[in-house]
Amino acid sequence: MKKPLDAVVVGSGPCGALAARSLAARGWRVALVDRHAFPRQKVCGDALLPDAFDILRDQGLADAVVGAGHPSSVLSVFSPGGYEVRVSGDFLTVRREVLDVLLHRAAIQLGAEPIVAAVSSVSENPDGVCVEFRSGPTLQARACILATGADTRLLRSLQPVISPAPTAVASRCYVQSSRPLDRLVVTYDRGLGPAYAWIFPVGEGLFNVGVGSVYRSQKRFDHRSLFERFTTVFPEARALMATGQIVSPLRSAPLRCGLDRHALRPGRLFLGAGEAAGSTFPFTGEGIGKAMATGLLAADAVHAFLGGEGEGLDSYASAVLRLEPRYRAYSAAHRLLDYPRLMDLAAWRLQKSHWLAGRLSGVLQEEEDPRSLFSIAGLLGSFFR
Ligand SMILES: Cc1cc2nc3c(=O)[nH]c(=O)nc-3n(C[C@H](O)[C@H](O)[C@H](O)COP(=O)(O)OP(=O)(O)OC[C@H]3O[C@@H](n4cnc5c(N)ncnc54)[C@H](O)[C@@H]3O)c2cc1C
Repeated sequence: MKKPLDAVVVGSGPCGALAARSLAARGWRVALVDRHAFPRQKVCGDALLPDAFDILRDQGLADAVVGAGHPSSVLSVFSPGGYEVRVSGDFLTVRREVLDVLLHRAAIQLGAEPIVAAVSSVSENPDGVCVEFRSGPTLQARACILATGADTRLLRSLQPVISPAPTAVASRCYVQSSRPLDRLVVTYDRGLGPAYAWIFPVGEGLFNVGVGSVYRSQKRFDHRSLFERFTTVFPEARALMATGQIVSPLRSAPLRCGLDRHALRPGRLFLGAGEAAGSTFPFTGEGIGKAMATGLLAADAVHAFLGGEGEGLDSYASAVLRLEPRYRAYSAAHRLLDYPRLMDLAAWRLQKSHWLAGRLSGVLQEEEDPRSLFSIAGLLGSFFR
């Protein structure tokens, strides 16, 4: 007879897959539940920034991911007025239907037990946690990690103060084009309003092209016309479309950014991790790296709890909140979207100041505190260096 489950991880995106893999690697019996069979599509820009890459390297997964991806060494960021800032770094794009299946399989290889089913409810009982499905048997375990991405329904059933509203919404499609563009491009072009857009090469003439904007409940999203505007007003996007064609429908998905304290510990035996806990960065919308990082922190806390060590599950929230200053700095950068002239000034300074450009590269490599850059003091300080 099988031993009872130690833990259940709900959601097998980058967060849940790495959490389940980490627990299975330490000998715990863990179920990895997702409502989709893999491979599955996930609406995303497909770009891995250096922090994501570092985690994959630490986990021994970098070779497999690099083999399936497309490397770039330059990220071009355009300000609202068109000032271009080029940042060097190790960037990689991997289509999410490829990345996520790699991570899902890596978890199963180390012993995580996959279950394809939508979880309909979660609760606590005297024996631990109870995870129920619309049909089929209920799971019983000692602890549960909710890694359900921007879908917060299970989290809110435990912790009703969690907001159902996302912080942003973004849309992407794939474009096949003969344009020889080999760097990642992000723009905050004035013609898009307070929104951003990107073109990320994913290899073999395929480009992930998308737009994103802050969620404002009173406004209906019209990303289709935002996308049309992007491919009309932004020269690089116009050139891409002139030599290419859209090969997949424009699809949208919500983002949860800026860390949600309430979602980290929604119940005594539950941890929330990844985008479910708002782990995506504001301003850049970069979420894969921090989804994996919080998933691993949640796994560490569950491991300590199961082994009766240290603070157990209590250690998780404080470990994640150590990242909070970074999120505050990105939120400050995000507020710049309402001040396009200030963004232009910052970009102009970045073009002129090697010191400032070095700071930006360091922030993306996570070697620098983003507060050194995304602050009025940081910007003014550059005039004296
Ligand atoms: C358009 C767009 C572009 C983006 N571009 C980038 C980018 O270029 N780079 C980057 O780093 N980040 C990007 N992001 C953010 C990134 O996609 C997320 O931060 C990341 O996917 C979060 O990972 P996760 O594992 O927390 O959640 P997810 O990847 O969303 O995985 C959650 C999983 O939970 C499952 N699930 C949910 N509810 C249930 C349930 N009740 N029962 C069973 N399973 C369930 C889902 O099926 C899903 O597989 C982008 C986001 C969007 C919307």
